[in-house]
Amino acid sequence: MRLDIVTIFPEYLEPLNVSLVGKARARGDLDVRVHDLRAWTHDRHHTVDDTPYGGGPGMVMKPDPWGEALDAVLESGTAEGGAEGPGQPVQPVLVVPTPSGRPFTQELAVELSGKPWLVFTPARYEGIDRRVIDEYAERLDVREVSIGDYVLAGGEAPVLVMVEAVARLLPGVLGNAESHRDDSFAPGAMADLLEGPVYTKPPEWRGRDIPEVLVSGHHGKIARWRRDQALARTTAHRPDLIGRCGPEAFDKHDRATLEELGWRQGTDGRFWLSGEAVEE
Ligand code: SAM
Repeated sequence: MRLDIVTIFPEYLEPLNVSLVGKARARGDLDVRVHDLRAWTHDRHHTVDDTPYGGGPGMVMKPDPWGEALDAVLESGTAEGGAEGPGQPVQPVLVVPTPSGRPFTQELAVELSGKPWLVFTPARYEGIDRRVIDEYAERLDVREVSIGDYVLAGGEAPVLVMVEAVARLLPGVLGNAESHRDDSFAPGAMADLLEGPVYTKPPEWRGRDIPEVLVSGHHGKIARWRRDQALARTTAHRPDLIGRCGPEAFDKHDRATLEELGWRQGTDGRFWLSGEAVEE
């Protein structure tokens, strides 16, 4: 997979040389290219921002450097492994971090991990002149994405978040390919539930034991315990995830656990919390 990141703070992306993403880069599984937006400015001060039309506080990123930078990145060729075949031109997905975008979710991370080429445009100030996004949306798949309901000073931290979420899903990047199967939000058995607690050795630490079931060797009981823990944690931290599940998401045992946790089943089969959720 190829990743291009255009930014006025290339050094902010240094963490992409560390740990899982850094190793994937070193192995050649990830081709990460960080570009300094100011390389596409032509004045003495390398200006990338200007005052907003219509007035108001803050500055807006100028369209010219972004247009030149993105044209250069797009012209720089091909990405490995595209549907068109190796070496053939591929269109990247343009990922635009913005607090006004659609939420970045595990589902989107999974979708993006299947693309051969992603280009990220982390902004500063009040964001990028809208015409840039409109221009590239005419020829590219453009995703405006928010990593949460808060406003950061720039898009570089959101890019680090998104790249790590996507990269760990690529084949061969995690040591154990099973590791992300049971993640919170992972599609599959634990869909839409948060992952419960995890434990490792020693069996006793500062007087605290691990739950006995985990050393029982009984796979069915362990799976049930994990599922109950996931239901309890989701009830405590993200009840909305359970509320939006259809009745088919839960088996007989789940329903019993949910009842104990304070959930009641409505006539449409969906669950709603009666009174306060039971504390974990
Ligand atoms: N005035 C803008 C607004 O309210 O939408 C905020 C601009 S913010 C100060 C500057 C840049 O940081 C954004 O253009 C975006 O690249 C990035 N950014 C800030 N918060 C973000 C978030 N929650 N998700 C994704 N990107 C974010």
